[in-house]
Order: sequence, then structure tokens, then C-alpha cells
Amino acid sequence: MRLVVVPGDGIGPEITAATMAVLRAADMRFGLGLAYQEERAGREAMARDGTSLRPELFQAVKAADGLVLGPVDSIGLGDPSKGEINPSAFFRRKLDLYANLRPARTYPGVRNPLSRDFDLVIVRENTEGFYADRNMEEGNAELRVTPDVVVSLRRITWPCCERIARAAFRLAARRRRKVTAVHKANVLRKGDGMFLEACRTVAKDFPEVTLDTVIVDAMAALLVRDPARFDVVVTTNMFGDILSDLTAELSGSIGLGGSINAGDRYAMAQAAHGSAPDIAGQDRANPISLILSAAMLLAWHAERTGNNAFASASGAIERAVAASVAAGESTRDLGGRLGTAEAGRAIAARVAAS
Ligand code: ATP
Repeated sequence: MRLVVVPGDGIGPEITAATMAVLRAADMRFGLGLAYQEERAGREAMARDGTSLRPELFQAVKAADGLVLGPVDSIGLGDPSKGEINPSAFFRRKLDLYANLRPARTYPGVRNPLSRDFDLVIVRENTEGFYADRNMEEGNAELRVTPDVVVSLRRITWPCCERIARAAFRLAARRRRKVTAVHKANVLRKGDGMFLEACRTVAKDFPEVTLDTVIVDAMAALLVRDPARFDVVVTTNMFGDILSDLTAELSGSIGLGGSINAGDRYAMAQAAHGSAPDIAGQDRANPISLILSAAMLLAWHAERTGNNAFASASGAIERAVAASVAAGESTRDLGGRLGTAEAGRAIAARVAAS
């Protein structure tokens, strides 16, 4: 499996180094044959190359089997004509990474704000919705109509609704067999109405999986009141973005928020959080978000290729993370005393011994 690795900005290089230590341990233990190509994107690339994302990087990612993208500081990356390209949005769009899977679960040994356990995955549509940068063939879908009026367009299409619903049901079939579709169809009658219709249509192909529907504002309350009732939550782009930060935080730390952006051909592992400049360079960042993201990338590769060694490696990394945090081998955000590099080494050691 050939991986392109982009450390990114802020805490990116630190959590990427820790993730690499874990991937190397998994490679040795499970004989994966991983090959890495390290590349730059983001602020450092902007300074050195005059663009935050060189065309060569795009070619390299297309030729590889997966991308590990560290967090990139996207502030100041607003004008593509000046080489200011937001790598995260660029790859999601150009590689058609339509499914953003964001698991959130509690761990023994980690205090969470609710003091109750849950284990769910938010499946967020990634290629349209209320994201002005990806809705138009050309230009941006936010229009300043007059000096004091802005119109923001939200695009919803049947094929995108159907494929994200299918991704959610496939995932639920391997978990607790329950999908919750989150929407605002009482207001966005046509767009979210079609999203719900697509979910109900796909549900017919998965008779073993139950489907229920919840309005997004009620969902925010229910996630706090009773998160354990949810298994797989499927929703449109912006609702998924917002709810997944909530669920990451409810699980104990945003530093636990792993995610994968997957399409039919390509996938990108990416922490759910940003570049955290406030703690960059201090060996304090929790690397688990990116480590879990990389584990999801291995699982995605296993599913695509049928190579079970990758599924075993992915499961071993997840168990090593859980065992490490239960043993208190964790960073400060989880109440531990380890630095980023040490926390990564502790997880790598458990993978090697698995
Ligand atoms: P960006 O502009 O890149 O989105 P940000 O600081 O606005 O960066 P986040 O990076 O998501 O947004 O950080 C939000 C808060 O969570 C910060 O206080 C940050 O220190 C903390 N945080 C984010 N990631 C981690 C992590 N891996 N470990 C510990 N704390 C983290």
C-alpha cells in the first residue's frame, strides 16, 4: 500500500510523526508492505513553492493508495488564483471523497463530560450541501447581490444523497444495524426532503438495518441527553460537520476525533480537528485523532482489496489506543502526562506486542 503523507501545519508534524511510528509498528507486525512518500502542503509549501498545493502533489496522491493529511492552517488560503489552495477541500472535491466518516466513542479511563458511554459514527456527505466552495462548476456559491445582501446556495443532488446513504447502511450492517438520518426537512422541504427519500429508498436494500429520522436541532439535544441510542448517523455536509465536533468533544477530547474521507477509488485519513496553533511545537497534542484516522485508512484498503491483514492491523491499532488510554498512557487533554511522541510510542509498542 503506497501512502502519501502530508504532515501539515501547527501540531500536524508532531501528530504525523507519532502516527508514522504506529503505522511502522503495524507494518512490521502484520507484514503490510507499506511505502511512504512524504510531501508538503499548506503554509510551509506556500512559503517554499509559492502555492500551498503543487500539481505534483495531486499527481502523487492519484498514483498512491491513500493519503494521510495532517491538519493544515487554512486561514489565509482564500484565493486559488494566488496559489492559495485549501488542501482538505481540494482533495475532497477533486478525488470525489464523498463520505466523511467520523466515529466518536467513550473509553474506559477517559473522563467524558456526560459521564455516560456511547459509540457512534457520523457519516457526513462531503461534496455538496451548504459548502459554497464545492457547489459550482466555476466560482463560489456565495453571492453578494447588493452591498448588504448575500445569498448562499445549498446544492443537494439525488446521486450524492443516495451514495452517502448507501455508505451509512453498509457501515451499519457491520455494526449495531441502526441508521439515524438527521435533517431539517420541516424547513428545507425539497433538499432535505430528497435526502430523506434517498435514505428510505436505500433502506429497502438493507432489511436487517433499521432507519429512523431526527430533526437536526432535536439531534443536538439528544446527543447530549442520550448518545448511546445512536449507532450510525447519516446527514448532509454542514450538519455533519457541526454534530461531529460535538460528538468528538462529548467523547472526552477533540484529540480523539479520527476521520476518513472516502470515495470509491481514493481515501484520505484526516484528524477531525484543526492545526491547533495554540499548542503547536510543545509536544502536547494528542496524536490519537490521526492514529485512528490512519487505522480507518487501513480498514478501507482491506475492504477494497480483500486483504485481511489490513483489517487486522486496523483493529490492532484501535485496541492499542483503547488499552493505552485505559492505562493512563496519554496526553494531558485526556488527563495523562505523556508528550505527543511518547503517547505515539506507547500505542506503537502495544501494536507490536499484539
Ligand atoms: P484551525 O484554525 O487550524 O482550525 P483552531 O485552533 O482554530 O485551528 P482546532 O485546531 O480544532 O482549531 O483546535 C481547537 C482547540 O482544541 C484548541 O484549543 C486546540 O488546542 C485543541 N486541540 C485541537 N486538536 C488537539 C489535539 N490533537 N490534542 C489536544 N488538543 C487539541
